[in-house]
Amino acid sequence: LKGIMPFLESYKKQKWVQLAGHQGSFEQCAEESLVLKRFCQLEHAAFTKLFNDPLRAFVPKYHGMTTKGGNQYGELENLLHGFNSPSVMDCKIGVRTYLEEELCKAEKCPTPRKDMYEKMVKIDPSEPTEEEHKMGAVSKPRYMQWREDISSTSTMGFRIEGIKCSDGKSCINFKTSKDKLTIKTIISGFLSNNVHIVKQCLHRLRQLRTTLEVSPFFASHEIIGSSLLFIHDGAKAGVWMIDFGKTTPLKEGISITHNIPWQRGNHEDGYLIGLENLITLLQTILEE
Ligand code: ATP
Ligand code: MG
Ligand code: MG
Repeated sequence: LKGIMPFLESYKKQKWVQLAGHQGSFEQCAEESLVLKRFCQLEHAAFTKLFNDPLRAFVPKYHGMTTKGGNQYGELENLLHGFNSPSVMDCKIGVRTYLEEELCKAEKCPTPRKDMYEKMVKIDPSEPTEEEHKMGAVSKPRYMQWREDISSTSTMGFRIEGIKCSDGKSCINFKTSKDKLTIKTIISGFLSNNVHIVKQCLHRLRQLRTTLEVSPFFASHEIIGSSLLFIHDGAKAGVWMIDFGKTTPLKEGISITHNIPWQRGNHEDGYLIGLENLITLLQTILEE
């Protein structure tokens, strides 16, 4: 047995799985329970405040800023640590994925984005207008709004950004999944139709809903582009809030419900719309 222990240990080791974002924005740590994410001031501020908020139970532990190879990183708890060959799903929450500020900026001085044009054409070559084709570029809000329209963001308040199943199959092609039934099928597949796992996730989401109601952080922030990360390994399951790169403190005098549609100027993010729809969806999966 002694002889195979090192083998078992390395087998148990969790490989890093990243479902969204730029490939270069994460660095693995020598310490496996940690991961480094490219430093971002807004995210740093959010994590720091969350540390003293009831929501702290739902976010990865944050150990502050650190430097590696000349770059600045935030040191985060690796949520995959402690799972055995986990399946992972990233759901981006909210009815909107860009800041109102980004919209203003793009209107005042539009910066044509070639990278976004290319991503658009990859999904649907007929989507760009004649002019956009000519420029070979689209504006950022144009791209972001289109992504919202072809996914379930605008209608359900969340969308699947990526899924990686424990069998190694990576399916990140959910960009165009929009209707309820398709999304339900994808999610129940991710949860392996395992009642035990669905129940754990549902429980966790309900706890999150209760905690959001009393969270000073939630009451005072607009949460854009943030995700719920679902992790399970067939035995245990968990859900965490991640990605606070676009989470901004609401200006004084402005308050939001997180529960009504966005209209320009009202700063609503639809976080609770997405959460509620996810809860309902898991309930239906359980009832089947
Ligand atoms: P984007 O803004 O494009 O969504 P990003 O660069 O802000 O990307 P995140 O969304 O924070 O990056 O993370 C990208 C992916 O990395 C997640 O989908 C998830 O798979 C993984 N990830 C992020 N944080 C953690 C964590 N603390 N533990 C485990 N996995 C994580
Ligand atoms: Mg993200
Ligand atoms: Mg982000």
